[in-house]
Amino acid sequence: MPAVGGAQRVRAPDGAADRRAGAAFRVAALPRVVVGDVLSGEAGDDHSRWAWTNESYPADAVSLRSVSSDNFVIVDTTHGTNVIGETDFTSGPSTLHEKAIYIVEGQLFQVEKLDFDGRKAYVRRVDCDYYTDAITYSKVTILDTFESTAPSPALSAHGEVHVVSRVVGFKKIRFYTNENVGSGDLDLPEQQMHTTSYWLTIPAALVSQLPYATDDRRDGINGAAYAMRNVAQLLLMCDRQDIGLSVDTGSLSPKPESDLVDPHIFIYDNYPGGIGFSAPLFRMERMLLAQTFDLVNGCPCEIGCPSCVGPVGETGPLAKRVALDLLQRVLGSDSDALEEAPF
Ligand SMILES: [Zn+2]
Repeated sequence: MPAVGGAQRVRAPDGAADRRAGAAFRVAALPRVVVGDVLSGEAGDDHSRWAWTNESYPADAVSLRSVSSDNFVIVDTTHGTNVIGETDFTSGPSTLHEKAIYIVEGQLFQVEKLDFDGRKAYVRRVDCDYYTDAITYSKVTILDTFESTAPSPALSAHGEVHVVSRVVGFKKIRFYTNENVGSGDLDLPEQQMHTTSYWLTIPAALVSQLPYATDDRRDGINGAAYAMRNVAQLLLMCDRQDIGLSVDTGSLSPKPESDLVDPHIFIYDNYPGGIGFSAPLFRMERMLLAQTFDLVNGCPCEIGCPSCVGPVGETGPLAKRVALDLLQRVLGSDSDALEEAPF
């Protein structure tokens, strides 16, 4: 959207329904962009037009070259063999593993065979009431820090990272109810890439002040990270697959205390070389943290759900409570977006 905004004025669409949609979009999304001093409403009208005011050319921040051309081809074998699509290399293993449900224009296909080296996935039409969600483990190593904030008390930064990830399994999720109706293990090759990332370093000393057991503290960090990813997706206006999440919970209870390792939460560009998300996310870090707190605090669920700290069963029983306590400490007195926590 910024790339478009830099090239031309952004206007509300014509037509009553479109105008309503446009108004909702302006209310929800544009003020967030304006905070970064990149857009301003034009004087003398009802803010239905917005103009790019930042000095830099916005398309410079979005790299298309880094997207690999080494795609997976999807071959439908229901009647003969037909190529029905392609998926980029990075998201191939998580969306085209064997038994994955792949959706094209509302039609469900099941992956019967993934030829990883040949970069082909063979699929067949099916009729089922669930989709699949891959379980990916990833480890991130910081290679270079481009910018960082002063610790207050947590430290935000962005830079270049090395990501090693592996799809280790998948879950079957029923449509509409989001019930977990099964799972499976997978053994797929490890993937490595250099990309850019935003990260939050939480001092281990701060985590150790949380009045909970070590496992609950770990659940709280994971829950906060899960919610941060949900908010980052909204702030960046991107697809869930475009950003990756990796949590390094450090070592929270070693002896002696001097061996404590700070936990890190990485939200990285899920494409080799990066596509320009981490610098904007770094600039919005206070908003990211404050809105994550608001999201978790305002969520009507009891102990966690996919909208906030993650689905029950994957998060610990205290994840939501500990995540709120942690986020409140990370934000300190800096945020006026904070409301009284319910506990
Ligand atoms: Zn919730």
